[in-house]
Amino acid sequence: MEGHNFERLKSHIVPLSNSMAFETARLEWDLIGVEISEEFDQCPCGQDILEHCYIRNRLNGATTYVGNVCINRFVGIDTGNLFEGLKRIQADLSANANDDLIEHAYRMGYLFNDKEYHFLKQTRLKRKLSSAQSAWKKKINRRILNQTIVQRRGVHQSR
Ligand SMILES: [Zn+2]
Repeated sequence: MEGHNFERLKSHIVPLSNSMAFETARLEWDLIGVEISEEFDQCPCGQDILEHCYIRNRLNGATTYVGNVCINRFVGIDTGNLFEGLKRIQADLSANANDDLIEHAYRMGYLFNDKEYHFLKQTRLKRKLSSAQSAWKKKINRRILNQTIVQRRGVHQSR
């Protein structure tokens, strides 16, 4: 794929890390959130992105973000089908979240309790939900979207 400049990404990440070598510096970072924005922003590699992956350095507390390609390819954090899951519930509030989105939502504290986690897991392949289940799913999905879809440019930059 064109446009993902590894040298540029490296020169952004390494100064924010304790290690001075990218190969180990990248291991200091954890995924702390994802967002889909409606306007393009830039990954530190120079690529235009809508899919933001916020990361935090576990050793020194620094935070930054990279795009979904760079986090998988260079930082080595696997986001799997997380963004596909997000786009699916963005398009249809009653859609089923996939495994990667459910795990992420739980890890980030977007689910209130284990019950919500198990409900999403148990119904993730179901085509027909009861009206109560459907209402519950919409409520959870709306909460997840509130944390992950940015309508106004710049909101995420204040983090
Ligand atoms: Zn990038």
